[in-house]
Amino acid sequence: MPALPTSAVIGVIGAGAMGAGIAQVAAQAGHQVILHDNQPGAAKAGIDNIRRQLEQRVAKGKMSQGDVDNIIARLQPADAIDALADSHLVIEAIVENLEIKRQVFAQLEALCSPGTLLASNTSSLSITSIAANLERPERMAGLHFFNPAPVMKLVEVVSGLATTNEAADTLFDTAIAWGKVAVHASSTPGFIVNRVARPFYAEGLRLLQESASDAATLDALMRQAGGFRMGPFELMDLIGHDVNYAVTRSVFDAYYGDTRFKPSLVQHALVEAKRLGRKSGQGFYDYPREGQREGTEKPQPKFAAPVNTKLPALVVQGANGTIAPLLERAQEAGLDVVHRESLQQDGTPRLYLGDLILALSDGRCAAERAVNEGLEALVLFDLCLDYRSASAIALAASHTTSPEARQLATAFFQRLGMDVAWLTDTPGLVVLRTVAMLANEAADAVLQGVCSAQDGDLAMQAGVNYPRGPLAWADSLGLPFVHRTLTHLQQSYGEERYRSSFLLRRKALSEESFHE
Ligand code: NAD
Repeated sequence: MPALPTSAVIGVIGAGAMGAGIAQVAAQAGHQVILHDNQPGAAKAGIDNIRRQLEQRVAKGKMSQGDVDNIIARLQPADAIDALADSHLVIEAIVENLEIKRQVFAQLEALCSPGTLLASNTSSLSITSIAANLERPERMAGLHFFNPAPVMKLVEVVSGLATTNEAADTLFDTAIAWGKVAVHASSTPGFIVNRVARPFYAEGLRLLQESASDAATLDALMRQAGGFRMGPFELMDLIGHDVNYAVTRSVFDAYYGDTRFKPSLVQHALVEAKRLGRKSGQGFYDYPREGQREGTEKPQPKFAAPVNTKLPALVVQGANGTIAPLLERAQEAGLDVVHRESLQQDGTPRLYLGDLILALSDGRCAAERAVNEGLEALVLFDLCLDYRSASAIALAASHTTSPEARQLATAFFQRLGMDVAWLTDTPGLVVLRTVAMLANEAADAVLQGVCSAQDGDLAMQAGVNYPRGPLAWADSLGLPFVHRTLTHLQQSYGEERYRSSFLLRRKALSEESFHE
């Protein structure tokens, strides 16, 4: 279906943070927009606010005053809902309350023509449920923008049970015409992004709760090794713990208590203490209030002090594509790298520095691998987005590993120019377990028909700036490895939370990938 033409009038209900932003996006794309809010004067205030923000862009030379005037001329405030009668599409962005939203859509149905498309920007309510009492629920869908709507690229086009493909496709193409990245999703709890992103927070919280390391070190590892723009703790502080906890709770409840979405006691305690993050001045970190300077320095990650030890040749057994860039980096750092035939049955690569074995984590802790495989000196290292450019890495040693062998491991990664963070011996370390769980959640969303693999990856990159789509990342690691990692995590904890998605398992067994 083609996008709505710019001659189509767009109605927006709710002139708060989201509604005003969406109205701005539609007006910038060339539509006449009627912005309605039931608080007298709120719609006009919303448009005044848009003007102020656009004029800041003029001051920075990013926009002309003429463009601003044209955009503002296309925005019309309305205190009465009747003004939306001639709209071709109405997007609702009012309070997140099912009953109130249902009432507003019932009013719209009575007011607008039968061909008017109806959309809700809800982040957590079911589109099927909002549309249930409509006479024509087939023309209603979710159009989920992210905050701030003029900046964030992603729009999830959410189909309820009754939504026609025609309606969803028109909204999809319209979002694209408005300069957005659009993805299709079916109306299920959390849609794509708010569901697939849960492990990003949950695994961080779990590592903290289990004293694997501290928040600053875990954040630094997710940035410097994982390539994420922010670590989970700084991101939760930015989102606000009340909001982040509420989303987790709502997804957990909506999936009937599936332990994969289980909220964290660590975060609950912050909410109880009203340490909501940046907005309250305190969360995992402290934030300076106005006029306050002292006592708010951000804690630094705990990286190992420099170790200067002569390094023996690196003997490589069974290297695979994942760690090949690490070996290239070692060679470039002047180390002797010697390849040997693989002796591991599962093809898992091992690196030897004298008697010390370095191995990529596979979801088991170092103690378990050392005991099972009869190894004395074993250090596990974490996954990196790109071993060539990563500037930090997490390590964990088995209880059998001597302090000297640990020093050797530190010296090796430091020689490559990486900061080294020693974790307590934790299964799956930090980046690997998070990426495996993100991919697992995305795989289940695909299995359940919530989205395609392509849209799942696109949503996570455009919606929350992930450096790589979780499924493409899993493909590149090899699905058998990701499946094995999850199975090991499940065995390590004895928890269903880490169970592998059946789709991931099937694809691993049949040597398929998510993206052919
Ligand atoms: P907000 O509180 O900033 O704004 C809501 C606006 O709706 C207010 O101006 C209010 O006066 C108006 N309103 C309330 N009831 C109304 C009614 N019956 N008729 C007309 N106007 C009414 O809220 P927001 O953050 O903009 O969120 C709006 C919607 O967008 C919610 O459904 C929310 O879940 C969703 N959403 C929010 C975000 C976010 O980060 N804030 C992101 C994506 C989606």
